[in-house]
Amino acid sequence: MKAMFLGTGAADWSGPDENGEYRRLTSTLLDGTLLIDVTRSTLASIKDPSAVTDVFFTHSHDDHFDPEALRALAPCRVYAHESWADCIKGDGLNVIPLQIGVPVEAAGFTVTPMPSNHYSDRENETTLHYLIEKEGKRLLYATDGGWLTTRENQIVGDRKLDGVVFDATVGEGYSDDFQIFHHNSVDMIRLMRGALVKTGRLQASSPVFLTHLSRTLHDTQAVLERRIERPLIVCYDGMEAYL
Ligand SMILES: [Zn+2]
Ligand SMILES: [Zn+2]
Repeated sequence: MKAMFLGTGAADWSGPDENGEYRRLTSTLLDGTLLIDVTRSTLASIKDPSAVTDVFFTHSHDDHFDPEALRALAPCRVYAHESWADCIKGDGLNVIPLQIGVPVEAAGFTVTPMPSNHYSDRENETTLHYLIEKEGKRLLYATDGGWLTTRENQIVGDRKLDGVVFDATVGEGYSDDFQIFHHNSVDMIRLMRGALVKTGRLQASSPVFLTHLSRTLHDTQAVLERRIERPLIVCYDGMEAYL
């Protein structure tokens, strides 16, 4: 399974920062065909947009869901939790409502929706993380959200993970930021990784990808790479990884 991190920034990125660094809004492409979240910057980052057949949304925040950019990807299948899927409309969009814990087959992947600890402006929306499986490899995709939820932990069960993608909005030294109630800090990710390893669901050497980094709560990529230990991997835009 090949993951391409098209964008690795949280909602507070709108252009290069004072260091000249830039993170586009978070969106990730798997094997060139399955796209997770579509932002205003996603299309320009995909080499072959016509190869994308299936689009999964984690939630409807506008740094993850851009209806105009999505319509430019049509025709395609679009998956979102049933609590808001009927808000997604457009020519050539085949919208499939998702239910918690009920897997769907898409582009050769098996994708299981799980509830995340996040929120949206749509009062009744259930926000999602995904367990993604293909050809014996299994990825836990966990943006946005603080911690993993109890239900999510139950759905993963004793299944072995080959990698995890975590929302790492809050950087080191900022763990008392108010956003920890709906996003992770790097310290929280270290604790979750430890628990996943201890319960035998993640190998000690398995990659843990950090994405959705806030502009104001993180240092430069070079500093982060020096400071944050493997197997935590600080993603950058355009980074490719293989499971
Ligand atoms: Zn976000
Ligand atoms: Zn969000």
